[in-house]
Amino acid sequence: MRLLLVEDDSMIGDSVRQGLRQDGFAVDWVRDGRAAELALANEVYDLLLLDLGLPKKEGLDVLQTLRHKGDAIPVMILTARDAVAERVRGLDAGADDYLVKPFDLDELAARIRALLRRRSGRAQPVIEVGALRLNPATREVTFNGEPVALSAREFALLSALVDRPGAVLSREQLEEKMYGWDQEVGSNTVEVYIHGLRRKLGQDFIKNVRGVGYMVPKPS
Ligand code: CA
Repeated sequence: MRLLLVEDDSMIGDSVRQGLRQDGFAVDWVRDGRAAELALANEVYDLLLLDLGLPKKEGLDVLQTLRHKGDAIPVMILTARDAVAERVRGLDAGADDYLVKPFDLDELAARIRALLRRRSGRAQPVIEVGALRLNPATREVTFNGEPVALSAREFALLSALVDRPGAVLSREQLEEKMYGWDQEVGSNTVEVYIHGLRRKLGQDFIKNVRGVGYMVPKPS
């Protein structure tokens, strides 16, 4: 899953990006409201983490513009403790959740998972597709009841595919889910990880759609 973090405080931004990457998210980080709008116009994100007090364009303005355009991306506001009125305005302007600084990174990751669940229309915290069970919180995966050990990248790729069974994702879309801007993408990496996943989950769990991409079929 790919997130955009908008935060002008270097220390907070750095620790959030690092913490969320360790949790398996691809994270792009920008430091002002204009850069946020540029990133949102050019990339596809699964969720937006938005500070409100920002240079160049306030977070609330970024949010209002986004919702005005009909963009339904889940938005979590990151605000200061004393800014109750700001949080209320943020939620009323279309934010889905907020966290008060300083916050715990585990709580942030859990709230992100909750928002992503809701976006996918799931109430269950564990994703089940056919013989596969995937727990986004613990990153445990079982197939036919047997534990499957996956690398962080394999897990990120599989998460993207099982989040929307039946949807075909191109190689480029899968790369976007796996890597932030400043992370090196090797050549043929998606193919390599698909190959690794097929060795562990069998050849048929992930389908090739020739010339389009990959999908995990909806169980019939
Ligand atoms: Ca700020």
